[in-house]
Amino acid sequence: MSLFLLLINRILPSGILFIFITLKKTAAKVAELSQYTKDLSKLFSTRENILLICHINPDGDAIGAQLALYHYLISKGKQAGMIAPNNLQEFLKWMDGADRINIFIRQREKCKRLIEGADLIVMLDFNQPDRLGEAENLVIASRAVKVVIDHHLNPHDFADMMISDPSKCSTSELIHHLIAEMNGSCFINKPYAEALYVGIITDTGNFEHGSYSGSTFRIVADLLESGIEKEKIHNLVYNNFSADRMRLMGFALNQRMVMIPGYQTAYIYLTRKDLADYKYVKGDSEGFVNMPLSIKGIVLTALFIEKDGFIKLSFRSKGSFPANEFAAKYFSGGGHLNASGGDYFDTLGHTIDYFLKALKEFYPEHNQAT
Ligand code: 5GP
Ligand code: MN
Repeated sequence: MSLFLLLINRILPSGILFIFITLKKTAAKVAELSQYTKDLSKLFSTRENILLICHINPDGDAIGAQLALYHYLISKGKQAGMIAPNNLQEFLKWMDGADRINIFIRQREKCKRLIEGADLIVMLDFNQPDRLGEAENLVIASRAVKVVIDHHLNPHDFADMMISDPSKCSTSELIHHLIAEMNGSCFINKPYAEALYVGIITDTGNFEHGSYSGSTFRIVADLLESGIEKEKIHNLVYNNFSADRMRLMGFALNQRMVMIPGYQTAYIYLTRKDLADYKYVKGDSEGFVNMPLSIKGIVLTALFIEKDGFIKLSFRSKGSFPANEFAAKYFSGGGHLNASGGDYFDTLGHTIDYFLKALKEFYPEHNQAT
C-alpha cells in the first residue's frame, strides 16, 4: 500500500491550523478526501474571481491539471482565469482551453490584474513558490485564499490549503480524485478527459516511470471509454517534432553524451551554438535526458542545456537513486525521486565540473545493483 501524504493548511476563524495526516488505508483516504473536498467545494462555490496558475516551463501535467480543473468549473457554471508563468510548448497548444491561458511574461499587465483581482488562487503541479517565476511576488502578496494541489515530495508552506499527495502519478490524477469527490461521482467530459489523459501520459512517460498504480489505469480506462481518441492525442503530443529536432537528438547522442564509468551515470550537454546549429525551439530537447537510462547499468542521467546566463539541468534516475535529493542538495532544485531538475548560474564547463564533484560525493551512499 503506498503511503498517502496529505498536508492541509486549513483556514479556521481562529487563524491558520496546520494539519499533517499520514494515512495508509484506501478507505481512510476516501474519508479524508471528502473532509477536505468539502472545504474546496465551498471555496469554489463562494468565490467569484477564481484564478488557476501552473508552474514555470509548464509540462503536460501542469497544463493537463489546470485545464481539467478549468473544464470542471466551467461545466458547473463557474468562470475561472488561467495563467502560466511562461510560454506553452507546441505539443500542448492544441488542447481545448489552452488559448485561454494567459502567459505572464507576455501579458504582464493583464496577469497582474487577474492576480490582484482574484479571491481564490489555485496553484497546480508545484510545491515551491519560486516555481511561479515572475508571478511569485504578486501571488504571494495577494489577499486571495491560496490552494496548492500537487504531487511532488517535500512541499513548502506557502498556501492556506496544501493538498499534496506524492502517491499520485500526476497532479492530473489527484485532480480527478478531488473532482469526483466534489462532484459526488466521476466527472468526465471531452475536453476534461483529453486534459487528464495528457497529464497522465506525460508525467509517467507513457506508464514507464513515476508512481502510477492500478487506480491510474482505472482512470485511464474511464477516459478511453468516454471516447477520447488516444491515437490522435499521442500524435499531437509525441509525433509533432521537426526534422531539425530529430537531427539534434542524433547529434546529442552521438557527440554530446558522456559516460561516467564507475558511477552508473551518463550525461548529455548542449551548448548555445549546438542549439542554434539545429534551429532549436522550446521543447526540442524534451525526452533527451531519459535516453541514456536505457543503457545497461545506468542509474542516473543528466542533461545540461546552456541558456542565456545559466544552465538548465534535468536529472532522471532508476530505482531508489533519489534524483530529487541530488537536485535539491547541489542545485537548489527539486522534483520527484526519479525525475528532477534545477538551474545553475555559471558557465557550462563549471557546471559540469561541479556536477562531477557532487556526484563523487553523493553517489557512494546511493549506488545500487542493476
Ligand atoms: P524536467 O527535467 O522535465 O524539466 O523536470 C523534471 C521534474 O523536476 C519535474 O517534476 C519538475 O517539477 C522538477 N523540476 C525541474 N526543474 C526544477 C527546478 O528548477 N526546481 C524544482 N524545485 N523542481 C524542478
Ligand atoms: Mn506533475
